[in-house]
Amino acid sequence: MKIARFSHKDGIRYGILDEDELVVLDGDPLFAGYQPTGERVPVADAALLAPVIPRSKVVCVGRNYHDHAAEFGNVAPEEPLLFLKPNTAVIGTGDAIVRPTISERTEFEGELVAVIGRIAKNVRAGDALDHVFGYTVGNDVTARDLQRKDGQWTRGKGFDTFCPLGPVIETEFDPGAARIETRVNGEVRQQAPLTDMIHSVADIIAYASAVFTLLPGDVVMTGTPAGVGAVVAGDEIEVEVTGIGTLRNPVRDAAPAS
Ligand code: MN
Repeated sequence: MKIARFSHKDGIRYGILDEDELVVLDGDPLFAGYQPTGERVPVADAALLAPVIPRSKVVCVGRNYHDHAAEFGNVAPEEPLLFLKPNTAVIGTGDAIVRPTISERTEFEGELVAVIGRIAKNVRAGDALDHVFGYTVGNDVTARDLQRKDGQWTRGKGFDTFCPLGPVIETEFDPGAARIETRVNGEVRQQAPLTDMIHSVADIIAYASAVFTLLPGDVVMTGTPAGVGAVVAGDEIEVEVTGIGTLRNPVRDAAPAS
């Protein structure tokens, strides 16, 4: 099933995508299960929002594809390299990524994202996927110059709008059979099978859950393949994972400080 969060008329609702309609649900299925209200809304009449607002954190893993680690002269780490983004960075498909005035270089990173559905603490890799509600698509937008300058990644990865998620959550997704592709203005810039990941989704969740409790609605971004690059105002970035959908975001510049 593909789960969408959307605004329609004056309310925010959840629904199951059924071809060109949304089967409206009573509440957030992450917490309320699947209770149809009986209403159906044409997708064309709805504005899709980020399918989840992380309750406490966006967990990310750096350098999780050999070819991406190599493109910056890094060796892929033996253990997952974890960092966090604030949930205030999250936007949905169609929303603009805003390039901060204090950065010279804003880059895209297309990534598969796991959405946590059950509390996970000290889970084993063999049990980790039981804690996943579903999967969506993400863009780990990065102010590359600030990431390098600071020596740690909070500022470079944490700006408002730097975590597009969407368009939907697929609850029956098999990462083993899917590919990720990122396009800028229609031109393919990143392309890889998800099996190229160094640390699997299960391994990342197990590793992270030994550090902090993962809550329902937290999300785990699983790293980006080679091909990352800078964008400028007016560009459109698309990240597509086969079987989930395409996350599409325009880029604009922040207004100068007044
Ligand atoms: Mn990343």
